[in-house]
Amino acid sequence: MANNIPVLRTISDIRTQVKTWKQEGYSIGLVPTMGALHHGHLSLVETIAAQTDKVIVSIFVNPTQFGANEDLDSYPRQEAADCEKLASTQASLVYAPSAKEMYPEGYTTRVTLDGISEILEGANRPSHFDGVASVVTKLFMQCQPDIAIFGEKDYQQLAVIRRFVKDLDIPVKVIGGTLIREPDGLAASSRNAYLDSKQRKVAAQLNIILADLVKQSEAGKNLRSLEKEAENQLLQAGFNAVDYVSIIDKDTLQQIDHLSQEARVVAVARLGNIRLLDNMAINPAN
Ligand code: AMP
Repeated sequence: MANNIPVLRTISDIRTQVKTWKQEGYSIGLVPTMGALHHGHLSLVETIAAQTDKVIVSIFVNPTQFGANEDLDSYPRQEAADCEKLASTQASLVYAPSAKEMYPEGYTTRVTLDGISEILEGANRPSHFDGVASVVTKLFMQCQPDIAIFGEKDYQQLAVIRRFVKDLDIPVKVIGGTLIREPDGLAASSRNAYLDSKQRKVAAQLNIILADLVKQSEAGKNLRSLEKEAENQLLQAGFNAVDYVSIIDKDTLQQIDHLSQEARVVAVARLGNIRLLDNMAINPAN
């Protein structure tokens, strides 16, 4: 039987706990999440637990990173089930503040990035990354971790976080966690729960089509034609729309014309209102 995991809900409580841990000489890891935890999240806990003494998992569905017509209200919230899953991991505690605790009346500050946050997801979800950067900055100030981990599932988010942490001289080491997939290759996501059985079958085509693009780009085919081809294949497979399929530099996230070093393909395809994100590494032929 799993033990209970402590849940803290206020800035004051997390600060007190972190202060005690630091006085005792423990290093602290943070895994920021929006809950509805799956094995992708749990793998982040496992990875960071190998590098730090104490692991805080934050659960906060951050309103400021959702657009007006997005799924903030329907986003899955299942804290009890999340805590049960975390109780059998190496997580030390859950930090689950309320929206009021995070954004009390009068709150008005935002962390904004130019460039990297305006392309790809940023172009499709204006102000999304401002919301992410702001809440992650707050979580860093509240939890004061030595290390924080973010999944490569949200490849651009990881790059955005690395950027503002460097720009603002925030003393937190940011590490990436491997993208975890379902047995059929679909990237694990809390939003997969929205898919009906027909959509779920179509969804599994996304990683297959991207894997094919990776193979062909490594074989030297024209990158722009491959992006276009993948878009057509996704539409034929039953996706309603493709926001982008883009072959980019792994660090700057700018679209590239030729493979000279490791690159990344990032893609978002839609099933109804559900946006499915995926990405894969591309390694140029030796
Ligand atoms: P979310 O709860 O969706 O905001 O995700 C919280 C963290 O878990 C983020 O750093 C995500 O990138 C990461 N994450 C979500 N899904 C996966 C996955 N399938 N594999 C690895 N990391 C993931």
